[in-house]
Amino acid sequence: MIRFEQVSVTYGDAGAPAVQGVDLTVPEGELCLLVGPSGVGKSTVLNAISGLVPHFTGGTLHGRVTVDGRDTRTHRPRELADVVGTVGQDPLSHFVTDTVEDELAYGMESLGLAPDVMRRRVEETLDLLGLAGLRDRAITTLSGGQQQRVAIGSVLTTHPKVLVLDEPTSALDPAAAEEVLAMLQRLVHDLGTTVLLAEHRLERVVQYADQVILLPAPGAAPVIGEPAEIMAI
Ligand code: ADP
Ligand code: ADP
Repeated sequence: MIRFEQVSVTYGDAGAPAVQGVDLTVPEGELCLLVGPSGVGKSTVLNAISGLVPHFTGGTLHGRVTVDGRDTRTHRPRELADVVGTVGQDPLSHFVTDTVEDELAYGMESLGLAPDVMRRRVEETLDLLGLAGLRDRAITTLSGGQQQRVAIGSVLTTHPKVLVLDEPTSALDPAAAEEVLAMLQRLVHDLGTTVLLAEHRLERVVQYADQVILLPAPGAAPVIGEPAEIMAI
């Protein structure tokens, strides 16, 4: 579903590449973790999947990235939006509406869907995320875990084949983090969505993963394996 072939990304003129010579594959319908210390290039990898690199952010891409067969060099982020949904590192600051229901609907607005399809998808997503009882609530009155589920929900209404999340549990307490991770796992197993989740704390998320991609150090090749293999390193 996602394939990197000899991918390097450089920002600006000077300095070492943020990621270098990366080959990786994320198979369809798996929950895959992208793990490594801060600054190792995780966000850069995610941005290369959503197309922000090379089209925005100032990063220069070498090599080839394809998502569902589409080359990100020739497809701009807008042209990937029906395939890739992205939940950024700080989604809580990006809410654009007041209530849960409005926020879920907003995610679909650029897709030009018919009103009845949009209504159906809001209902389906409220149920999927266990948010039905909160539909009319102001987002600001929700817990961190509930807010994170709304942020994910506003992307899920677009029915992305690939969901990419940057440290989605970093602001959550362990119980709320578990709730979000279990929900992502259901998404993979029930709907076949491909999920790639970046995280710097392996222990917190590893039990939910099908595959782990470890970026050990800046510029180093990724180590890819099943959770048990990576835990043994
Ligand atoms: P991580 O997500 O693992 O913390 P990043 O991909 O954010 O790693 O960063 C990898 C390196 O690339 C860092 O040295 C960071 O400063 C640099 N970098 C990331 N984004 C940009 C950008 N838009 N412009 C310049 N440098 C960047
Ligand atoms: P519509 O465009 O009317 O919503 P679709 O055929 O695109 O119709 O979607 C309906 C189907 O999508 C349902 O069978 C449901 O199981 C499935 N579905 C629900 N949530 C998602 C999701 N996040 N990603 C992909 N498919 C989903």
